[in-house]
Amino acid sequence: MPARDFFDNARYLHDGGMGNIQTKRGCDQQCIYCTYPIIEGKKLRFRNPKKVVNEIEMLKQMGIDYLHFTDSTFNNPNDHAYAICNEMVQRKVSIQYTPYMNPSSPSKELFSLLKKTGCDGITFGVDALSEKMLLNLKKGFKVADVDQAARYCREIDIPFSLNLLFGGPGETKETVLESLNNIEKINPVAAGAMIGIRCYPRTQLWNIGCQEELVSRDSNILKPYYYVSSSIDKDWLIGTIQEYYEKHDNFLIPTNEKGAHTDNLVVQIFRDGFRGPFWKVADELKKRLASTSVARRSDQDQHKL
Ligand code: SF4
Repeated sequence: MPARDFFDNARYLHDGGMGNIQTKRGCDQQCIYCTYPIIEGKKLRFRNPKKVVNEIEMLKQMGIDYLHFTDSTFNNPNDHAYAICNEMVQRKVSIQYTPYMNPSSPSKELFSLLKKTGCDGITFGVDALSEKMLLNLKKGFKVADVDQAARYCREIDIPFSLNLLFGGPGETKETVLESLNNIEKINPVAAGAMIGIRCYPRTQLWNIGCQEELVSRDSNILKPYYYVSSSIDKDWLIGTIQEYYEKHDNFLIPTNEKGAHTDNLVVQIFRDGFRGPFWKVADELKKRLASTSVARRSDQDQHKL
């Protein structure tokens, strides 16, 4: 059992909207940009579900009422997620949480079980919704899997979001438009998009960046480098994502249309008692951004007077 009392657990909840817990270490997937298998290892090592649920109970006693599972993905494999949820159901332990899930083997039964244990949303780290880009990023699933997972979520009434990364190796106008088109079809509650993929040493993306002479073996990684493939016109990509954002309420990008950083506003939202991942507080963030810009405009008008 981790010595959780050495940590300021409440601060994670109050400033980040979620407490945290890990049910396994490692990731055996091969997504080309990801550091999880490097940091935690490629072999999955599972915690005993009883001990995980003991820890959830302890966190609840400490006042944590919303959890983030910091696992690579909560349902890799589905069996371990079943074991955790079954243990929770058996012991009547429930807490709100929004796990990161892999859509490769969607299971309606597992999604129902998640809901019983307090899950109030699922984030799918899909990265792309173009078949070619899913292959290039080595995600290990297809658009049809995401579509099926989305159907199950809707049937069970669990809100879900998709995370997307644009600009990966081989990205083209066609693949971007295919992804955007599929977001529209799948229609998640939220889709969060980033342009560029951060390159970290020892990942396959880093090797690609080195081959393309975009980074070098001795690059200082404290200065982040975001890979955008030369196969896509970056200005077109930024313009297209911006345009899509303006037309779709469920599409989220990390900064607002004027480029203002939203980090402080998000922290304030959590301090005001909101809970959950970014996409669950997006409506509140939009409301506050709108009132901030109204206030800014009236300040500017005052100055003019
Ligand atoms: S993106 Fe997720 S599934 Fe892919 S390697 Fe990283 S942790 Fe594993």
